Amino acid sequence: MSGARKILLVTGGGRGIGAATCRLGAAAGYRVAVNYVSNHAAAGTLVESIRQAGGEAIAVKADMASESDILTMFETVDRAFGRLDALVNNAGVIDVLSRVEEMSAARIDRMMRVNVTGPMLCAREAVKRMSTRHGGKGGAIVNVSSMVAVLGAANQYVDYAASKGAIDTFTIGLAREVVAEGIRVNAVRPGFVDTDIHASSGDSDRLRSVLDILPMKRPATAEEVARSIVFLLSEDSSYTTGAILNVSGGR
Ligand code: NAP
Repeated sequence: MSGARKILLVTGGGRGIGAATCRLGAAAGYRVAVNYVSNHAAAGTLVESIRQAGGEAIAVKADMASESDILTMFETVDRAFGRLDALVNNAGVIDVLSRVEEMSAARIDRMMRVNVTGPMLCAREAVKRMSTRHGGKGGAIVNVSSMVAVLGAANQYVDYAASKGAIDTFTIGLAREVVAEGIRVNAVRPGFVDTDIHASSGDSDRLRSVLDILPMKRPATAEEVARSIVFLLSEDSSYTTGAILNVSGGR
């Protein structure tokens, strides 16, 4: 198995796209670190199901808005597994549907800390461990962006869209920075995915209300996005770096 014994860290791995990525990654042979922030039960259940399927996994609590939490998370992974081969910067938040003139500084700050600063700090820690420049063996990073980075999400969450725009640019720049050090950096841009995240929009019927604007007339499953993420982590994409793959069903 090509991914055997490699170590995969997925931020926000307890639920949704992250959980699907952990499951597929474990099935591909990775030993998996499942990060979560508050839903201990979901992360614990996932870890247990990976173990029961014969895989290896640990749950690691850390808030992506906190640098000290991120540092502790990487130290925990170091202690548990001794190396890091793959990072998926998946944790992310939206907020209630709003126009820009209604947004507080606190909302925008939180969005940027979780969706932008956190992934950048995780990438920094991953590069320190993976880069041949630092004695590492190389690796792969996949950042989870969103199709709204391109679409803008007017009248919904332009702040969130802008945070994902930053992730796109970060992906391109970091990919070029570490390309000669054995590290590939790519991103996926999901469209609408059937996960819990939409509950934070304040519209309990959000997924159903957008069906008409989705070209396939359905949202993606978390697993459909996870398959693209695992592809970008794998040797099947060994010549792909700095790429941003739309997984948006034609949107
Ligand atoms: P989800 O179902 O709401 O799951 C989010 C995961 O992130 C949870 O495991 C959660 O932890 C974790 N998380 C949230 N805030 C965190 C923080 N501060 N620190 C650490 N972990 C945190 O979300 P999802 O829909 O799978 O979204 C995953 C990624 O895909 C996000 O980056 C999102 O922006 C992106 N995306 C989603 C869609 C979509 O339609 N769903 C579309 C485009 C892009 P707990 O379990 O502990 O709460």
